[in-house]
Amino acid sequence: MRCPHCGERETRVVDSRDLDESATIRRRRECAGCATRFTTYERMEAARLVIVKRDGTRQEFDRDKLADGLRKALTRRPVPDGAAEQAADEIEAELRSAGATEVPSSRVGAMAMEQLRGIDQIAYIRFASVYQSFEDLEDLKREVDSLYAERGTVGSPA
Ligand SMILES: [Zn+2]
Repeated sequence: MRCPHCGERETRVVDSRDLDESATIRRRRECAGCATRFTTYERMEAARLVIVKRDGTRQEFDRDKLADGLRKALTRRPVPDGAAEQAADEIEAELRSAGATEVPSSRVGAMAMEQLRGIDQIAYIRFASVYQSFEDLEDLKREVDSLYAERGTVGSPA
């Protein structure tokens, strides 16, 4: 870190404080040569989040790709704009807050299904039918039945 005024390398930290819940640290520095004061910001690098696929290959978590998959399932469904993005954000936040650096893709798939189940049941069935690849109609029926059962307990107007 060189002094922006004289190029001196030696600087002294005179003040340092956390911004936005400590992801960023702001430092006031003073040049040892000319006493110019300047500010630096240090940002913590987001921890890596790696998805481990069924075949064992690893891939950096891609929030946009996840949002894409959710958006496809929600195509032409009566849901608010940005529902897919919000769901993807929630999944990412949950994964990151769990603190794990490696997550099996099956877990992400399960979380995506859980989100969709809360947003739109048709979208959920669409996603589940691709993701879980129902073996036959019986599988699909079981899933639909469980949605009906759930609907009954939530108490939607008859
Ligand atoms: Zn200086």
